[in-house]
Amino acid sequence: MRKDGNRTSQGSFLGILKMLHYNHQRPALPFIIVSTDHGLGVKSRTKQFKRLASHLTGRARQIPISIMKTASDTAIRRALRDFVSVIEWSSSQLLVLWGPLALVNHDCSSKLQLTGALDGHQTCNSDNIYPWELECREGVRDSSRKLASSGEEVVILYRSCEGQGDFVCSSCKQRLSED
Ligand SMILES: [Zn+2]
Repeated sequence: MRKDGNRTSQGSFLGILKMLHYNHQRPALPFIIVSTDHGLGVKSRTKQFKRLASHLTGRARQIPISIMKTASDTAIRRALRDFVSVIEWSSSQLLVLWGPLALVNHDCSSKLQLTGALDGHQTCNSDNIYPWELECREGVRDSSRKLASSGEEVVILYRSCEGQGDFVCSSCKQRLSED
């Protein structure tokens, strides 16, 4: 039966590779993953915002309570900050985001933000995996073409640079150099 087990794990491994390629690297995708000054990033290859948003998606899951309990541990805090995209849903609920959307860099001047399948102050269920996507920030009335900004790096507002430690986005860097 060990043979069957191996076959299954080979099957799931290949399945994961196929899914990663499909979601991140397929030539027909309306975006491409690029290298930027802030590490990997995403560049738009479409003039239609809806098309970009329907493919540039992610999934999020709550960081287990057991890890949050040890989050005062500096090594864990550093790992959460440096290696993963973390969404702060509430002070006690942090979600980890993966998928191509997790590669999109932050910029304070972006007209886009993240939205998830959780409403308002709804508590997240640690067993659930939530789909996450791009949306326009409130009050933005730009055309689909402008929002898609084909050929440009896609950036989103995670939260303003103020108080974010050592990271300063391109817009804030420019503002600071002008002051
Ligand atoms: Zn900024």
